[in-house]
Amino acid sequence: MISIIGGGPSGAYLASLLNDEVSLYEEHAIIGRPIQCTGILTHSIKELISVNDDFVVNKIRKIKLISPGNEEYEFGLKHPELIVDRYKFDNHLIDLARENGAEIFTNCKLRDFSVDNKIKLKFDDKEIETDILVGADGPNSIVARRTGLLNGRKYKIGHQYTAKGEFDKEVFTVYFNGVKNYFGWVVPENEKIARIGIVGDEDIPKLFQGFLDKIKVNKKNFVECQSGVIPVFDYNAKCCDRNVYLVGDAAGHVKSTTLGGIVYGMRAAKILASALEAGEDYDRLLRKEIGRELWLHSKAAEFLSKFGEEGWDEFIKLLRKIDLGKFNRDKPFSGLHLFLKPSLIYFLMRQGIKRN
Ligand SMILES: Cc1cc2nc3c(=O)[nH]c(=O)nc-3n(C[C@H](O)[C@H](O)[C@H](O)COP(=O)(O)OP(=O)(O)OC[C@H]3O[C@@H](n4cnc5c(N)ncnc54)[C@H](O)[C@@H]3O)c2cc1C
Repeated sequence: MISIIGGGPSGAYLASLLNDEVSLYEEHAIIGRPIQCTGILTHSIKELISVNDDFVVNKIRKIKLISPGNEEYEFGLKHPELIVDRYKFDNHLIDLARENGAEIFTNCKLRDFSVDNKIKLKFDDKEIETDILVGADGPNSIVARRTGLLNGRKYKIGHQYTAKGEFDKEVFTVYFNGVKNYFGWVVPENEKIARIGIVGDEDIPKLFQGFLDKIKVNKKNFVECQSGVIPVFDYNAKCCDRNVYLVGDAAGHVKSTTLGGIVYGMRAAKILASALEAGEDYDRLLRKEIGRELWLHSKAAEFLSKFGEEGWDEFIKLLRKIDLGKFNRDKPFSGLHLFLKPSLIYFLMRQGIKRN
């Protein structure tokens, strides 16, 4: 018997893959609520599930980058990115889990557990024994905390609202700040509604107000708040201990550059499903399949975070001179041709030297 805590994308997708007897416990009454996400999925989601237009609200074909000094660069995407309705997306995955025979329990918050020969789970009104426990319970995972797998994990704070306005439906815009370690975004659902937010380490309310002033959006146009915390990936963190496993945000499976975690959480779920099936070492498989990519994202994010205002202005100006072609966001580090541009290498070397 496998018990999964959390009915978000990682837990639901895992439940749709396992061949064992599976119970999934979600603390909220409704799957997919509250929403704390922008819902951007890169094309690689199609390697995991077949995409159903019911949960796709928009397709993005271009990304615009804006520097602190308002330098702009717009590029096309090799594959359109999907903007999903998280409520419908999460429920679609739960439907797949049910079809696979998993039992889904809502209004069921895991309060505590103990690990001996059997694992004992404590909910408000019942206690259950299970052979395997999976923490797919998001960034504040009780499973990770109680198992000692959190290990000083760091977090970013995402602050986002849906807002009314006039937007270009095909373009998602990213704003870099350069002083505090944050960036902002405007991601359209359609011409009239966009998801507007920032992510950073501290001073978020003040930075968010500054961001709204910059993009000239008034708070009276807000429709719904969708804020939440985002874990920072740590290559050395362990994701299992005895028969307890972590996936998705609970394990910090998030890209440090964009802070997107849905696809990587689901990829980790697929890896866990095959590790359990084949009796293989989950941590080893994770490192092999997604660890290197997530590590590269964390190194790139660390490098970019030191650019400063002038660095970002210069970088965006430089990108304007370089033909990115149709950029593949699923393979950002395989665009080796980019790194053969002498001006880009020179810029990156100077950024590296400046900070040493
Ligand atoms: C503002 C913001 C914007 C984001 N934008 C994007 C984006 O555009 N693209 C992207 O890929 N990622 C984005 N992310 C990250 C993304 O939301 C997460 O990576 C993703 O939701 C992780 O899925 P998960 O299933 O691992 O965890 P979650 O979606 O957090 O699901 C965990 C589930 O566990 C439940 N749970 C928690 N504790 C318990 C308990 N004790 N008992 C029972 N149930 C419990 C929760 O209620 C929740 O339903 C964003 C995050 C934020 C905050």
